[in-house]
Amino acid sequence: MITLILFGPPGGGKGTQAVNLVEKYGLLHISTGDLFRYEMKNDTPLGLEAKSYIEKGELVPDSVTIGMLKNKMDANKDVKGYILDGFPRTVPQAEALDELLASDGNEVTALIALEVDDEVLIERLQGRAATSGRADDADVNIIKNRIEVYKSQTSVVAEYYGKVEKTAYVNGVGSIAEVTNRLSDAIDTFLD
Ligand code: AMP
Repeated sequence: MITLILFGPPGGGKGTQAVNLVEKYGLLHISTGDLFRYEMKNDTPLGLEAKSYIEKGELVPDSVTIGMLKNKMDANKDVKGYILDGFPRTVPQAEALDELLASDGNEVTALIALEVDDEVLIERLQGRAATSGRADDADVNIIKNRIEVYKSQTSVVAEYYGKVEKTAYVNGVGSIAEVTNRLSDAIDTFLD
């Protein structure tokens, strides 16, 4: 079972690239952001709880996020593997993921981190606000907070997997196809 973590700051291109990688490697794409947006659209209790954090650009609490991810993975065990987009975003989430995979005799294959400068991130997120319809893309202060949260709470996850030599960094600036090629090259070094 392959479990790839597609990592990087908001606006780094994780969602766009995940679509290409899923096709290439035949993995199931799990985006916790997409799962939260689905719950919010349907006004579920989980959606309502998540909304109060997401609209401020804060992280949804670990217990809520881990529970949702676990449900999604448990419901999809008969797959070749997963490409996780937007999870884990904290070290406790990474530890929970490791435990979850270990309970089935599996482990994280690799974490591939997209690197993009802040100015480019802000430009991309503001640019996509019109088409994404996302409230958290529409306000530059929320965008800046999401980038700060990435730096203060999330970037350590790349170091966490780096300690066990599972992290690779990839330049996330370029055409979509160029970045997909760089990501594939990085991923292939972790596959048999
Ligand atoms: P994304 O679509 O990945 O940019 O996620 C949008 C928002 O959903 C984030 O800014 C967080 O508020 C929330 N979110 C998504 N994934 C997570 C996670 N793994 N942990 C906590 N909050 C998350």
